[in-house]
Amino acid sequence: DTIGANLDRAVARWPEREALVDVPSGRRWTYGEFAADVEELAYALLASGVAKGDRVGIWAVNCPEWVLVQYATARIGAIMVNINPAYRTHEVEYVLNQAGISLLFASVGHKTSDYRAMVGEVRGKCPQLRETVFIGDPSWDALLARATPAPYPELSCDDPINIQYTSGTTGFPKGATLSHHNILNNGYFVGELIAYSEQDRICIPVPFYHCFGMVMGNLAATSHGACMVIPAPSFDPKATLEAVQQERCTSLYGVPTMFIAELNDPDFATYDLSSLRTGIMAGSPCPVEVMKRVVAEMHMAEVSICYGMTETSPVSLQTRRDDDLEHRTGTVGRVLPHIEVKVVDPATGVTQPRGTAGELCTRGYSVMLGYWNEPEKTAESIDAGRWMHTGDLAVMREDGYVEIVGRIKDMIIRGGENIYPREIEEFLYAHPKIADVQVVGVPHERYGEEVLACVIPRDPADPPTLEEVRAFCEGRLAHYKVPSRLQVLESFPMTVSGKVRKVELRETYAAE
Ligand code: ATP
Ligand code: MG
Repeated sequence: DTIGANLDRAVARWPEREALVDVPSGRRWTYGEFAADVEELAYALLASGVAKGDRVGIWAVNCPEWVLVQYATARIGAIMVNINPAYRTHEVEYVLNQAGISLLFASVGHKTSDYRAMVGEVRGKCPQLRETVFIGDPSWDALLARATPAPYPELSCDDPINIQYTSGTTGFPKGATLSHHNILNNGYFVGELIAYSEQDRICIPVPFYHCFGMVMGNLAATSHGACMVIPAPSFDPKATLEAVQQERCTSLYGVPTMFIAELNDPDFATYDLSSLRTGIMAGSPCPVEVMKRVVAEMHMAEVSICYGMTETSPVSLQTRRDDDLEHRTGTVGRVLPHIEVKVVDPATGVTQPRGTAGELCTRGYSVMLGYWNEPEKTAESIDAGRWMHTGDLAVMREDGYVEIVGRIKDMIIRGGENIYPREIEEFLYAHPKIADVQVVGVPHERYGEEVLACVIPRDPADPPTLEEVRAFCEGRLAHYKVPSRLQVLESFPMTVSGKVRKVELRETYAAE
């Protein structure tokens, strides 16, 4: 199906149900109102000369217009290009040219950044860019004033409709080209496994520019008649907790660091979160200790972990709501319907026996069409058998549940021993003085690499010392895994999608 046809069905079934709520501005849409605004915007785009296959950029923090642009472009078969709201002139210019964007939607600004000024600076260097429409500015109304009913182009569900950039956790972001079929099916199945219905209200503090927000959030919601709730333009723990309470949300999303920030908020206990039933934690390793607190203290008895990547629409593995607590916190679940996964020896490509670590590969409807205009990079990650090589190490248990060991690029090799940061991080989360921890390998003369633990203390006035951390590990972790260096930090370098850039920690603290 196409995304437009999917929206038509939602409107026919649930015209009066709420579809979208923007908490900061108090604006609300029922499915009927939402579809009408999508239609008006789609007609306005057609009247502005946007044709099927044209690239339309969106460079904005979370706001209702983001969602309208998402559905209006899909309606007319234009290819929406998600632009990271943290980008500045240099990167925006790169994306505008790399994707050949002809019409750009942009915020007027956010916090200290002025998007209008930045667009002004790069416009002259982007020959394909014909028009920029600013959200919350007269240019938005001027665009809508052009709307005149016209027939929508003929669409196929295999047409590309979206270019999503990867998070850039390990290097430069890559633009994954995705079809209606890719992302609509993925959103549908993720929502199906959570048992979403028109009774559900999903609090989405993760950015729409990333697949977590726009597929697992928006597309999952509209496929099941649920309501999308925007707590704030960008992540804020208090605003998120407040939105859950005020809007009686049943589901809450976040990457692990967001849940950690919410649970550790000084006012956490004052919020009424009893409406929550479920939610999704995803994007990076989900610490068992944190998952347990989410289940117990946030009422999210049915919370899921999802594993995925932008290139695979994104989700390929998910825990189920009736899994027991060990499977629901200690693994990333089982494969989704109509997707295949296998774990191979990275050197030989041979499938590993269950219980043995190797590179995770996935295949099925969810694998992207390719990286936009980068056939060599596409060929490096999708093999001749259509398997996407994820770059992640995983173990498939006998019962089909998968554990993510870590990224191949993050593995530490100390004196010939392979060390997975994840194992040490999981262990250190239990330390009473540690709120959050990241373990990386840094160069060492004799061992090649040594283990550095970067920690955010629970109490900034009383951080743990290296001696304390080492004593905590003594006798409980193999000696070569015990951190030999400690760095106390206030925060970690993050991507906008909420992932810790280990690569930056490695570089910054390479030397003692
Ligand atoms: P880039 O590819 O640009 O370096 P990225 O890989 O972080 O950035 P995304 O597509 O946003 O970009 O993220 C996919 C990656 O996130 C996966 O390959 C995996 O390493 C990690 N990931 C996602 N979900 C989980 C999870 N539940 N547990 C562990 N890791 C996860
Ligand atoms: Mg990646």
